[in-house]
Amino acid sequence: MTKVVKRFIAGAVCPRCGEMDKLVVYRQGEKDCRECVSCDFAEETLFSQPSAELETRANRDLDKQPIKFVDAGVKK
Ligand SMILES: [Zn+2]
Repeated sequence: MTKVVKRFIAGAVCPRCGEMDKLVVYRQGEKDCRECVSCDFAEETLFSQPSAELETRANRDLDKQPIKFVDAGVKK
């Protein structure tokens, strides 16, 4: 089973129960899903989130650092 990471949406209001900060988003295959932890509300959305791109960039930067470190060690 794939582990699903659910994240809260700050300031989001549930359209069903009206509670704020109760909505979570998570990725399920090609879809972004929204879900309320306070009631049974659940919804699928297809829009891509900018935060996903930022995470990818951060991961690339982390990959570069060990590679540079290894090169410096080889020269010595
Ligand atoms: Zn709700």
